[in-house]
Amino acid sequence: MKRVLLTGAAGFVGSHLAQRLLDEGFEVVGVDNFCTGRKQNLADLKGSFSFIEADVSKPLPLELTQQSWDWVMHFASPASPPKYFALPVETMLVNAEGTRQLLELCKQSQGRTKFFYASTSEVYGDPLVHPQPEAYWGHVNSIGVRSIYDEAKRYGEAMTYAYHRTFQVDVRVIRIFNTYGPKMDPEDGRVVTNLMFQALRGDPMTVYGDGSQTRSFQYVADLVEGIMRLMRSSYVWPVNLGNPEEFTILEFAKKVQALIQAKSQLTFQILPEDDPKQRKPDITLAQRELGWSPRFKLDEGLRMTLAYFQQEFQSMSKLSHDRIDQRTV
Ligand code: NAD
Ligand code: UDP
Repeated sequence: MKRVLLTGAAGFVGSHLAQRLLDEGFEVVGVDNFCTGRKQNLADLKGSFSFIEADVSKPLPLELTQQSWDWVMHFASPASPPKYFALPVETMLVNAEGTRQLLELCKQSQGRTKFFYASTSEVYGDPLVHPQPEAYWGHVNSIGVRSIYDEAKRYGEAMTYAYHRTFQVDVRVIRIFNTYGPKMDPEDGRVVTNLMFQALRGDPMTVYGDGSQTRSFQYVADLVEGIMRLMRSSYVWPVNLGNPEEFTILEFAKKVQALIQAKSQLTFQILPEDDPKQRKPDITLAQRELGWSPRFKLDEGLRMTLAYFQQEFQSMSKLSHDRIDQRTV
């Protein structure tokens, strides 16, 4: 049985990947400190899964360093802008020191352990090349408000290739474009969760700026499929994974409004500083190297996500009613 160490297992992407690995017969040891992840994402995992609560920016627990691993997969990092703004130093450290420590673990395995690093389309910053191929070096403000995430991920990539070039660690890197799906935290502040929950509550739906900035949204199952294919390929350089269908945020908000048949109106708010104006992956490399293309269209992915969020919304509403009832008893 292959053994995988998966950091960020209690997060949105990590918990989906954990289940896929378990379904394929891997033994998975998840690590997380719950700074943005949720215990409930671990609750329904089925298979050979165990969990260690730890901060991977701190010296790694002996349970991790004294075991042997086939794959070490590093997903731990705050990922939504409001969350990384709230955890700036922690975000930098988990991508810097966290990445270095996990690479060190792989180096000590003498070539037995493959390392995976979850990078991001944010390494392209506010891109001047559109769509973005992997060969584009990006347009990043190194002291801007988003630099705590962008530069941390760029450093994480650089550290990964330092270990690859110097110590021949076998590495895989994916630059993930905006991904959504069930198990996202309703409170994470990303556009998908904000707009869906605002619409479900009947609150105004917040569009930042005039909504003309673009994003390309990938359903989580497509991402997980691409990750598994990369792990099984011999390609060591960064690969974009994302859905190249591009929407303005205004188009996206109207789609959500129509899907939920919401009475909510759109409300326009200030565009956050350094918010990228456009983002769309060039996926030629993933198509060529992995035979991968996204399968889920946005409408289909949003319907599946909504079904999950409706359940979450009902249990959140029940919880707040119960609290009110308790106060009035
Ligand atoms: P998430 O916040 O849901 O998951 C991240 C997980 O990492 C959380 O469970 C959190 O508690 C954990 N974590 C953070 N710091 C930690 C630390 N120091 N020690 C242990 N655990 C820690 O975010 P996500 O959307 O699932 O993102 C997962 C990874 O994918 C991140 O590295 C993120 O940068 C990358 N990514 C995601 C997207 C996306 O659209 N979801 C896009 C680009 C890149
Ligand atoms: N956004 C928005 N309303 C919201 C949350 C986000 O209009 O309630 C915009 C945000 O300004 C950005 C886009 O939606 O242009 C995607 O934001 P998100 O935080 O999901 O991810 P990003 O791609 O910026 O990391």
